[in-house]
Amino acid sequence: MKQESIEIEKLHYEKLHHFVNGQKTPGQSGRFGDIYNPALGVVVKQVPLASSAEVRQAIGIAQDAFPEWAATPAGRRAQVMFSFRDLIKSHMDELAEAVSCEHGKTLDDAKGSITRGLEVVEFACGISQMLKGEHSGSVARGVDCWSVRQPLGVCAGITPFNFPAMVPMWMFPVAIACGNTFVLKPSERDPSCSLLLGELMKQAGLPDGVLNVMNGDKEAVDTLLTDGRVQALSFVGSTAIGEYIYHTGSAHNKRVQALCGAKNHMVVMPDADMDQAADAVMGAAYGSAGERCMAISVVVSVGDAPADALIEKLLPKLDALKMGPYTHADSEMGPVINPQAKARIEGYIEKGLEEGATLVRDGRGTVVVGSEKGCFVGATIFDHVKTNMSIYTDEIFGPVLSIVRADSYDQAVKMINQHEYGNGVAIFTRDGDAARDFANRIQIGMVGINVPIPVPMAFHSFGGWKRSLFGDHAIHGPEGVRFYTRLKTITSRWPSGIRSGAVFNFKAGGEH
Ligand code: NAD
Repeated sequence: MKQESIEIEKLHYEKLHHFVNGQKTPGQSGRFGDIYNPALGVVVKQVPLASSAEVRQAIGIAQDAFPEWAATPAGRRAQVMFSFRDLIKSHMDELAEAVSCEHGKTLDDAKGSITRGLEVVEFACGISQMLKGEHSGSVARGVDCWSVRQPLGVCAGITPFNFPAMVPMWMFPVAIACGNTFVLKPSERDPSCSLLLGELMKQAGLPDGVLNVMNGDKEAVDTLLTDGRVQALSFVGSTAIGEYIYHTGSAHNKRVQALCGAKNHMVVMPDADMDQAADAVMGAAYGSAGERCMAISVVVSVGDAPADALIEKLLPKLDALKMGPYTHADSEMGPVINPQAKARIEGYIEKGLEEGATLVRDGRGTVVVGSEKGCFVGATIFDHVKTNMSIYTDEIFGPVLSIVRADSYDQAVKMINQHEYGNGVAIFTRDGDAARDFANRIQIGMVGINVPIPVPMAFHSFGGWKRSLFGDHAIHGPEGVRFYTRLKTITSRWPSGIRSGAVFNFKAGGEH
């Protein structure tokens, strides 16, 4: 009976495609990956996994499209971004449905993440301003010197499952506005939104071949990493893969930025507003089921009082937290991405118990009525966590919060600085002196002061420190423009009527 129902489900699989040269293109490799609806816990679609030959073909198409697109004036390229912005707004519901169906997050959360991506598109609308060069006139008699930033060529993006709209939009709008062409390899677990974005870019007036969406797994990624025509590679995903991407891409002479895993701490000082801190923890630890690279997964209580107060305030909030599928308007927390992720997260809860942490709230065995097979893990809290426990050291990437009790503010700072990850961090306090000191001394890329998830706006740049980012550039904003362009400096002399004859020594001021 069970076998029969699986067969019936398979008959209804929707088979996805690639988007190459402005066309929906069926996969040729014969290999497919399964896409779950995590709220139902069943496979609903299949994604083609590209062969190396298919990826090479897409790179060739992007390479051919580059000269014409690079020669298109920046203002004209920006017009495509203005139209794309309007199309995202008018297709918001469709995009959010694609995100929520395959990822599981609530529709409001999906729309919020699309809006964060949209803000990068808005930044890209102003690309002419960002590409303005520097000019120095008359550095010597009759000599001028100026610098411009020019596009690189074919750029590639490899993105994770947890933000299927926002993370691709951290990359391709900036790259394309700068005059590059792009091959996007989205997560094979939720690729539909990227395919839709490709189609909307075409509708916005983007010439065919400038943006190509190739679905795939390691075979596709390895081709992007090693093909000499790819000039730059942006990766967002786990640290193990990101480190491989960085080293392999760099060894093949590519510019690489690899934004990776995280373990984000929130320090709660005894003087903090505990109601504000408890609300912040709820959203930051359990929003999107903890599947955010900026999720708060550790609270560091300075002294015992903040931990005790927070637990008291959190427990009734957890009782009231509504878990459910995105199709229910009142759902506040959805499932995790697939059964494997659920098993991994529940394994960490088991380990935390074995290691001796106090399990204050256990999210295992959570059943949502009507979605019994769904990949739900309930909100979990561990207290008295020690820094040598795996629930502290590892990125769990699920709704599991660890509370560590520190004896002092200095111990809290030292602990965070010693952690291998350095993506985001927050401090909750009313003390401006402590907050200022924290922002100064903490070894983390993005810092929040009474802000739990300090994601920078699109006109700033996003990026962690330590093993949360490999490469020299953060993503989007001014750093994104620097990453997707290279500097050229031109020194010119026009006859000025003054002739000084040949010069053989190396002079300052540009007169060589
Ligand atoms: P992942 O590393 O498993 O996958 C990311 C991408 O790499 C996918 O496109 C995948 O197809 C590809 N990939 C997977 N295995 C590969 C292999 N062996 N060789 C080559 N490519 C491979 O990450 P995920 O599970 O999709 O996403 C979650 C992770 O992403 C978390 O660690 C999270 O912290 C991180 N993340 C980081 C940021 C950030 O900005 N720092 C943002 C979002 C997510």
